[in-house]
Amino acid sequence: MAQDNCCCGSTNLILACSGASNVGQITNEVAKKLDIDKQGRFFCLAGVGGHISGMVASVDGSDKVLVIDGCPVACAKQTMDEAGLNDYEYVVVTDLGIEKNHDFELDSADVDNALEACRRKLDRVKA
Ligand code: SF4
Repeated sequence: MAQDNCCCGSTNLILACSGASNVGQITNEVAKKLDIDKQGRFFCLAGVGGHISGMVASVDGSDKVLVIDGCPVACAKQTMDEAGLNDYEYVVVTDLGIEKNHDFELDSADVDNALEACRRKLDRVKA
């Protein structure tokens, strides 16, 4: 096992942009809920962005990866791609019809919508 790992050693990893908008925070909420439901391990995108070698290796060595971005700026996707990590399922929250804004009182229906889309992606990965 590589050095510099954080707590995350699962083979089913979830990385979220966790951005400063409603849709960014929806990615964070969804990643937490999937982790709590034991559908994957919420993993630190910042570690990948910081090119922490063990963390990049953990993502590279995992069986299944789900990346969640809030909007088409695609910060999480670009972080992954910059690290040479290209094998993952991908969800963009605004693609689900959820409009981006700066309201951090999240709409639970929006969170549920994004959660369901991410679950479908993880189910597809498992199949
Ligand atoms: S993908 Fe969009 S919501 Fe997420 S961090 Fe980037 S700009 Fe913010």
